[in-house]
Amino acid sequence: MADTVKLVKKIARLAEGKKKLRFMEVCGTHTVAIFRSGIRQLLPENVELVSGPGCPVCVTNDDYIDKAIEYSRRKDFVIATFGDMLKVPGSRSSLAAAVAEGADVRIVYSPLDCLEIAKENSRKKVIFLAVGFETTAPTQAATVLAAKAQGIKNLFMLSAQKLVPPALKFLLGDTAVKVDGFLLPGHVAVVIGAEAFNFLAEEFKVPSTIGGFKAEEILTALASLLEQIDSECAEVANEYRAVVKAEGNLSAKKILAQVYEVTDADWRGIGKILASGLKMRNEFAEFDIERVEPIEFERVEKKTACRCGEVLRGVINPTECPLFDKACQPLHAIGPCMVSVEGVCAAWFKYGGTNFKW
Ligand code: SF4
Repeated sequence: MADTVKLVKKIARLAEGKKKLRFMEVCGTHTVAIFRSGIRQLLPENVELVSGPGCPVCVTNDDYIDKAIEYSRRKDFVIATFGDMLKVPGSRSSLAAAVAEGADVRIVYSPLDCLEIAKENSRKKVIFLAVGFETTAPTQAATVLAAKAQGIKNLFMLSAQKLVPPALKFLLGDTAVKVDGFLLPGHVAVVIGAEAFNFLAEEFKVPSTIGGFKAEEILTALASLLEQIDSECAEVANEYRAVVKAEGNLSAKKILAQVYEVTDADWRGIGKILASGLKMRNEFAEFDIERVEPIEFERVEKKTACRCGEVLRGVINPTECPLFDKACQPLHAIGPCMVSVEGVCAAWFKYGGTNFKW
């Protein structure tokens, strides 16, 4: 607690006399940790925290959900997924609705669980919904390698993994996005390394700090951002040194590069971002359900007042969406940001989006 008080005072001292500053976190775990620990309320009036596209479920395009639903309706298909994908709306429906109609959808805690599901259901095709960032992609790659090594022929991935650095680059080119510094995602940095973010300082001169997830670690990272602004010297500071190395996790990076290659990706509410996704290399095409059994489906253009695209770019806060806490609540979510436990709208709903200041 003493350290927390010291850090809060340090932040107040560093922020004094400065213009309004907006720092963006790009990790759903940070979003929730910031709310849970009440950090917003501890910051000076001129320091604002906004959330970026850090929730993997929230940035998953509705086309992808439509495809997953389409596969789930096929005879002898099993869909395996993390639980928070169930209620994410596609253009017409959700996986939860497909389950109600009889689809076989299993909740797993790791893609590796799918190896057993595939063995136990050898006459069925098991598809894992491979969404997420660099944090989860190595385990998905390891699952593909294990399936290949074990001769499992009925396990597939529906891939939509995303990469964080290209998204940050994209945001910095978006004139509607106003960011004075990034609180960089500790978990992603563990895998790709602090060096992967160097472009933020070198190319864009934007202060950036890799932070951990405890209140004191987040406050330390915010103080680091303010110190960089104070000294007018942008860098990529690493305040999560216990686990983040400059070069990252070389083993994880190696299996990622072995199984996947970089491709363009569609981010929900944002659009296509060049070189911001992963797809399986040709050597592993037998595990890519879209290449083994492509599907055609009619795309439905959905018009709603959901403003997830602006929320995910930090252009507005969820309370500025006219549906927030009215038509859109966690139990009847209109957009994905209200569905996932790491979604920005869900965090504002659960922990209160007040701007109480002390
Ligand atoms: S409150 Fe609901 S409708 Fe509004 S942006 Fe968030 S998820 Fe979309």
